[in-house]
This record gives sequence, C-alpha cells and structure tokens, in this order.
Amino acid sequence: MTTAVLHAPRDLRIEQRPIPAPSEGEVLVRILSVGVCGSDVHYYEHGRIGDYVVQRPLVLGHESSGRIVDVGEGVSPGRVGERVATTSDSTARLQSMERWRSSSP
Ligand SMILES: [Zn+2]
Repeated sequence: MTTAVLHAPRDLRIEQRPIPAPSEGEVLVRILSVGVCGSDVHYYEHGRIGDYVVQRPLVLGHESSGRIVDVGEGVSPGRVGERVATTSDSTARLQSMERWRSSSP
C-alpha cells in the first residue's frame, strides 16, 4: 500500500508498505480519502506538535474514510463493504459502535 512517511521535518517520502492483516477485534479499511490536519502540517514543518516530537518515521494522515475490506476474528464478516470514517481514536469508537449495534433492536 502507498503511504506518506515523514522521516524528518520537510522530508516526506512516498513509500510502499505491506498491507496488514486485521487482528482479533480489528477491521482492515481500504482508505479512499484522507484529510490534512493541522497536526500533520506541524509534524511536516517542525517535526513536532507541542510535547510530541517525531523521533522515528511517522505515517501521516490520521483522519480518513474508506471501506472495510477484511475483518479479524470476532468481527462479523457482514461488516465487509461498510463505509467508515477513522480518527486517531477509532479503535475505541469502533468498539463503541459494535456495542451500540449489539444492543439495538
Ligand atoms: Zn488531527
């Protein structure tokens, strides 16, 4: 998969990385669009935002949307094809949505 990886301030490289397999309780999302957040701009221009300093290669783009293309153990295969939006705290949000769905009539 194609990724934008920041190695140092103003050193952004387009790289190919292997597609990960979803672990238990996870989904694999094919990303279709990514927003450029102010955090990404700070990382790119200064290599940091506040106290968080980029110390190793960082994949930029933490606000995105796409479709679920694979699911890990414990996730309903019926979720494949579902459109989703992600943020840095998406893991917690997806778990919350799953709980909401299982409790809805
Ligand atoms: Zn952000």
